[in-house]
Amino acid sequence: MKALSIQGLKKVYKNGFTAVKDVNLEVDEGDFFALLGPNGAGKSTTISIICSLLNKTAGTVSVFGHDLDREPNKIKAALGLVPQEFNFSLFEPPIEILTNQAGYYGIPRKEAKHRAKIYLKKMELWEHRDKQARSLSGGMKRRLLIARSLVHHPRLLFLDEPTAGVDIEIRRSMWEFIQEINQQGTTIILTTHYLEEAESLCKNVAIINEGMVVKQGSVSELLNQSNTQTYVFDVHNSENKSPELAGFTVNQFDGRQLEVEVSKDNGLNQLFSLLTAQGFEVSSMRTKTNRLEEFFLRLVNKN
Ligand code: ADP
Repeated sequence: MKALSIQGLKKVYKNGFTAVKDVNLEVDEGDFFALLGPNGAGKSTTISIICSLLNKTAGTVSVFGHDLDREPNKIKAALGLVPQEFNFSLFEPPIEILTNQAGYYGIPRKEAKHRAKIYLKKMELWEHRDKQARSLSGGMKRRLLIARSLVHHPRLLFLDEPTAGVDIEIRRSMWEFIQEINQQGTTIILTTHYLEEAESLCKNVAIINEGMVVKQGSVSELLNQSNTQTYVFDVHNSENKSPELAGFTVNQFDGRQLEVEVSKDNGLNQLFSLLTAQGFEVSSMRTKTNRLEEFFLRLVNKN
C-alpha cells in the first residue's frame, strides 16, 4: 500500500509563479522518507497541497488510496503536520493546544486529555503545560508542534524542518521518539536542512529542485552513486611548490590547504603516494561535507 502517491502535481501561485512544475512521487507505507532540496524548491508548497492548506493547479494526489479531490476529509484525518512556522495561539498553554487539537479531530475530552499528557511528557513539555505558549523557548515551541501533530494518531506524518532551533541533546531524544513512532507503523516524510539527519534516519529520499523531483531512490543507493568526495588537507612542503596530482581535480590550493576531489577509482591511497613522492607532509585531513550533502549539491548545480 502506498502512503502517498502524487502524479503530475503542479502549482501556479496567484502572482503567476510556478512553484511546483511536475512532481511525481511515491512513498510506501511505513517508510521514513526524506524530501530534500534547496530553499524555494517547492517542498513546502507540495506538503501544503497534500495537507489541504493550498489548492493545486493540476495533478493527482492520493493518501492511503484516498483521492485528494474526492475524499479530502479522509486524508486530513490520516495526516499529521509539523509545519515550519509556529502556527498555534501564543496565549494558550500547551495542555489546551493539545486537547483542543484532539477535539478538532473528534476525540472525546477525556481521551484527549490522556493523549495530551502522553505527548507532552514524551516531548519533555509536561512541566510547562500550563504556561502561555509564548513563554516557551524556540526548541520547546518546536516540540509542542510535534506533540500537537500526534494527538490524533496520524498514519502519515510530515515533519517540515522539525529540528530547526532544537538543542543537540533534545534533538537526539526527539529523533529516538520519532523513530519509535515510525517503527510502530507511522509513515514519516521529513524535510530538513540537516542532511546528516536524513542520511542517518531515512530509508528513501527524493530530491526536489525547481518544482520537480530530480532524483528518487534509497538513501544507500544514492550514496553509492555518489562516488566522489571532496577532501580538505592541511599540507606542508618545504619547497613551497604546488602539488601535481594527475587524475585528481584540485579545487583549491593556497600553499597550506589543499581541496581535492577524490573518487572511489583513483582513491585516497593514490593521492597520498603522489603527495608523499612530491615532498608534502599531510598534517590533517577532513571531508568537506557529508556525502549526501555533496551529492545533492552536485545534482542541483548541474541543472
Ligand atoms: P521550499 O519549501 O522548497 O523552500 P516553497 O514551496 O516554500 O519551497 O516555495 C517554492 C517557491 O514558491 C519559492 O520560490 C517561493 O518564493 C514561492 N512561493 C511560495 N509561496 C508563494 C506565494 N504565496 N505566492 C507566490 N510565490 C510563492
